[in-house]
Amino acid sequence: MLRVTSLVRDSQGKPLYYVAQFHDITERRAIDQIKNEFISIVSHELRTPLTAIRGSLGLLATGIYDSKPEKARRMLEIALTDSERLVRLVNDILDLERLDSGQVALEKTVCDAAQLMQQAVETLQPIADQAAITLRVIPVSAQVWAAPDAIIQTLTNLLSNAIKFSPANSTITLKAQPQLDGILFQVQDQGRGIPADKLQAIFGRFQQVDVSDSRHKGGTGLGLAICQSIIQQHNGRIWAESTLGEGSTFYFTLSNAAHDC
Ligand code: ADP
Repeated sequence: MLRVTSLVRDSQGKPLYYVAQFHDITERRAIDQIKNEFISIVSHELRTPLTAIRGSLGLLATGIYDSKPEKARRMLEIALTDSERLVRLVNDILDLERLDSGQVALEKTVCDAAQLMQQAVETLQPIADQAAITLRVIPVSAQVWAAPDAIIQTLTNLLSNAIKFSPANSTITLKAQPQLDGILFQVQDQGRGIPADKLQAIFGRFQQVDVSDSRHKGGTGLGLAICQSIIQQHNGRIWAESTLGEGSTFYFTLSNAAHDC
């Protein structure tokens, strides 16, 4: 509880009475605390690639490109990889903040589910080909009430995770099934799987199953938090099921066009 006291005077400046105001600041404190935690995690996440970039450039500045060209090339690669990571981090943080603060209302419209799926698959096909992974799409005939770009972003995030955590020669299946009151989308992989106690936590900000995932797999730990925020703004649900060593399936629901129009 916060008490604000002020003294009220008459026109000659003589004290008349005090006014005391009481504000319940418990909720404000909780919001401030969440914000402070977020800022501290973000600063930490940004500092790691920045430190690597500064270190590599510092070494290059000593003039090693003449005496040790191979090492100089390696330092440039580190600086480039880490600056790309910084850009990804900043973009993801901005996306999440824009979504969660409600700054941009998602413009929903009637969309063809098959087209959304096709667009996401087309974006990721080259990366899947490079990893020797087959992307399989099971066609569906359904209309959904959704913000198309946001749903394509959700599908792209889920598919790119599936590719990152799957071995070569495996298959990723994307399908959508009409339900009573909506559509259920599924992204199923044959990858390394997710431990049961992490299945919910991974939807939190900066949560990764393995601390080395961000460095080895290039992720930011924000992709699923962005997906969750998008699906919540569609009044849908998103969750994952998995068997370690066998694979994972990510699910989300959307209302069908007729339902929400
Ligand atoms: P990232 O950018 O690290 O991929 P995400 O929020 O998208 O961030 O995912 C969080 C973490 O969840 C990943 O780092 C990984 O540990 C785990 N994860 C997500 N998708 C999969 C998947 N299909 N298979 C195995 N682990 C996954």
